[in-house]
Amino acid sequence: MPLLSLIVPCYNEQETLRPFMKALYAVLDTLPDVQPEVILVNDGSADDTLPLMRELAAEYQGARYISFSRNFGKESAMLAGFQAARGDYVAVMDADLQDPPALLPEMLRAVREEGFDCAGTRRVSRKGEPVIRSFFARAFYQLINVVSHTQLVDGARDYKLLSRKVVDALLQLPEYNRFSKGLYEWVGFRTKWMEFENVERVAGETKWSFWKLFKYSLEGIVAFTTMPLAVASVLGMLCMLVALVIIVSLVVRQMLWHNSVDGWTSLVCIIVLLSGLQLFCVGVLGQYVSKMYLEIKRRPHYIVAEQSE
Ligand code: UDP
Ligand code: MG
Repeated sequence: MPLLSLIVPCYNEQETLRPFMKALYAVLDTLPDVQPEVILVNDGSADDTLPLMRELAAEYQGARYISFSRNFGKESAMLAGFQAARGDYVAVMDADLQDPPALLPEMLRAVREEGFDCAGTRRVSRKGEPVIRSFFARAFYQLINVVSHTQLVDGARDYKLLSRKVVDALLQLPEYNRFSKGLYEWVGFRTKWMEFENVERVAGETKWSFWKLFKYSLEGIVAFTTMPLAVASVLGMLCMLVALVIIVSLVVRQMLWHNSVDGWTSLVCIIVLLSGLQLFCVGVLGQYVSKMYLEIKRRPHYIVAEQSE
């Protein structure tokens, strides 16, 4: 029988994990022709998620867990899941029931019978989410799709079901800074998109602050395009052109009217503008250098402290 692996990254999910497993197995039990393997990944939770996982792994057929030594982030948790998964089909889903398990049979059908390699989900609404967050999320998708060749789908969730081929392709990408939404698009393959209305968390609260999301989106841009570097050099050239025009006009003015002393204000404005621009460009450069620094160190993506047998 084919094996279906489910990867569940969990960070402080003590309230949601039990209802989640119940809902998940209710759906898995209706899939008699696949054998389930549920991999709970504890991403360094500070609450009682780990003891709960030990219980659940003993209670549910096919469930096991991996526990990190600290919080390494959802990307690392998903990677650990992919590396541990043995399934012919592998799905990733959140522990908070925002990714409806009821979609699983349809996703599995798309990959098993309809010839797709990947079944992805996207939410068509963002209701229940702060307005500012939705605004910036939309702006991010528009921006990255303009500056990067890798096209991202607005509203795409990490909730996905992949064939073994796609998982093996993803595992070939060794990068330290993982932005999986981009990685999925980068490896290619045929994806069937399924849409659903946004569901709010059953319990607990979101682990993504605005600041965390902002940093994550910068990571996505730096990981998938070098366009900002080009923009920086183009800006620099434009400024040089403007400066040239100003210099020429000043020289001409001095030669014709001999009055080049005034204009202190404009001078200050230009200095402030240009130094701001220089700092901005150095900052852009710094983003890439810092990412290279992290890649070059070749640290592991996560450290496992404990796992079930
Ligand atoms: N998560 C994780 N590590 C983190 C943050 C989140 O493993 O550092 C998990 C979390 O337990 C949940 C999923 O990632 O299963 C999505 O997190 P959350 O629901 O907080 O994000 P949102 O749905 O609000 O975007
Ligand atoms: Mg959530």
